[in-house]
Amino acid sequence: MELRYEHLYIGGEWVRPSSGRVIAPVNPSTEEVLGSAPEGLEADIDAAVEAARRTFDQPGGWAAWEPERRAEVMERFAEQLEARAGRIAETVSSQNGLPISIARQLEAGYPTAVLRYYAGLARTTAFSETRAGLLGGSVEVRRTPVGVVAAIVPWNYPQVLSMFKIAPAMAAGCTVVLKPSPEASLDSFLVAEAAEAAGVPAGVLNIVPGGREAGGRLVSHPGVDKVAFTGSTAAGRSIAETCGRLLRPATLELGGKSAGIVLDDAVLDPAQIGQDLVAATLTNNGQTCFLSTRILAPRSRYAEVADLITELARSLPVGDALAQDTLIGPMVTAQQRERVEGYIAKGRAEGARLTTGGGRPAGLDKGWFVEPTVFADVDNNFTIAQEEIFGPVLCVLPYDDVDDAVRIANDSDYGLGGTVWTSDPERGAAVARRVQTGTIGVNRYLPDPVAPFGGAKASGLGSELGPEGLASYLRPQSIYR
Ligand code: NAD
Repeated sequence: MELRYEHLYIGGEWVRPSSGRVIAPVNPSTEEVLGSAPEGLEADIDAAVEAARRTFDQPGGWAAWEPERRAEVMERFAEQLEARAGRIAETVSSQNGLPISIARQLEAGYPTAVLRYYAGLARTTAFSETRAGLLGGSVEVRRTPVGVVAAIVPWNYPQVLSMFKIAPAMAAGCTVVLKPSPEASLDSFLVAEAAEAAGVPAGVLNIVPGGREAGGRLVSHPGVDKVAFTGSTAAGRSIAETCGRLLRPATLELGGKSAGIVLDDAVLDPAQIGQDLVAATLTNNGQTCFLSTRILAPRSRYAEVADLITELARSLPVGDALAQDTLIGPMVTAQQRERVEGYIAKGRAEGARLTTGGGRPAGLDKGWFVEPTVFADVDNNFTIAQEEIFGPVLCVLPYDDVDDAVRIANDSDYGLGGTVWTSDPERGAAVARRVQTGTIGVNRYLPDPVAPFGGAKASGLGSELGPEGLASYLRPQSIYR
């Protein structure tokens, strides 16, 4: 199946791109070209921002609609996405290597739940209230949509990370220009088709896939009011600099290097915790921002934990992302595989002990695969314990007591996720409260749409999801009466 798109979805229409430049995403499992899409350049970004601006500024238009009316559109949008769920999951898997069984849940299922959740919040949120004034009279406090949103997403979860931005923006009454990454651009056309079929008003959602230049233009475009970015910390810093200069609000969801703290009372039975442990540490072949890739084990049970992690990593079926039983697919690009292999070499050179993996899986001649890899005897100062690898590489580190575990967990530039593994969930929660990250799980990790998701330190600024996610698309206005 070759997917060919020749037009961009701007202002509710399929328009001719400004140039003949195309993006041709490659299937990382097979190294075959999947299809092509127009590459959005500055002129296309400009056209999309102008369309979003016109729609936003239209008197009595989308931004001024009753929230109930917007919620109805969002629910129809969710239905249209559901009607395309199979194609969405397959397109994502074949672009970025996310195993299809996971893509069906996280990339086809989860986004529609997020959309419906925000449709519900649009209905129940008080967008205006009146307060009795201290100085006499009253004050009408409105929560107005922030305006035109530049949404920039990476390739690892293109659908869900787009929806983390589109859904609250729509609920608030904003309009959006979405810029998907070149590696995962084809699935965004299915989102555009769903929006069109659902009757999302023209200009509310505009989609222009493209690279850094297009992203840079979008961030600094004078017609944009807010930037919502998910991606690397390096790009996030550069975007934050631009937004700082422009005094433009930005939500930044960036990298991570989270810790999984195994407490001394944890049940280390693969039948009981294996699935949740693998999900929290290796989902999407390690290409997930929040993974607990530093596993901290008490010295008294260090060998047991290292053995468990090693056995789990060794047991995972590696293969074509579209195969039903695959749990570890390829790295997204050849370059990303090189990066991961570079970290594996560095881990060896630093003196970590490789307990499994470290190479390319046998029998897979095509595709950018890396064996699930575990390093034991890792010191938290090692590069492999400090830097985000974004591949299936885990480190197991020993700790002395709970204070030491918390110290090691917090000894990181990042602060995004984490987990605590224990047979006593209350004790687990008490330890979790001491970890300086935006999110953390006890005995599993699953970002729930009702709660804010975001990072501390170099993991970002602001939050997505929950009512907090909606608030970041709203600006207060006080009218003194
Ligand atoms: P990336 O930063 O290279 O690119 C992300 C997106 O930003 C792409 O669409 C890209 O084209 C665009 N972009 C890059 N530089 C830009 C710039 N200067 N101005 C504007 N746009 C720019 O990241 P990636 O390699 O695609 O994604 C992997 C990274 O994303 C990892 O670091 C991962 O941790 C992070 N991530 C974070 C979260 C989170 O929620 N915190 C979720 C997923 C991924």
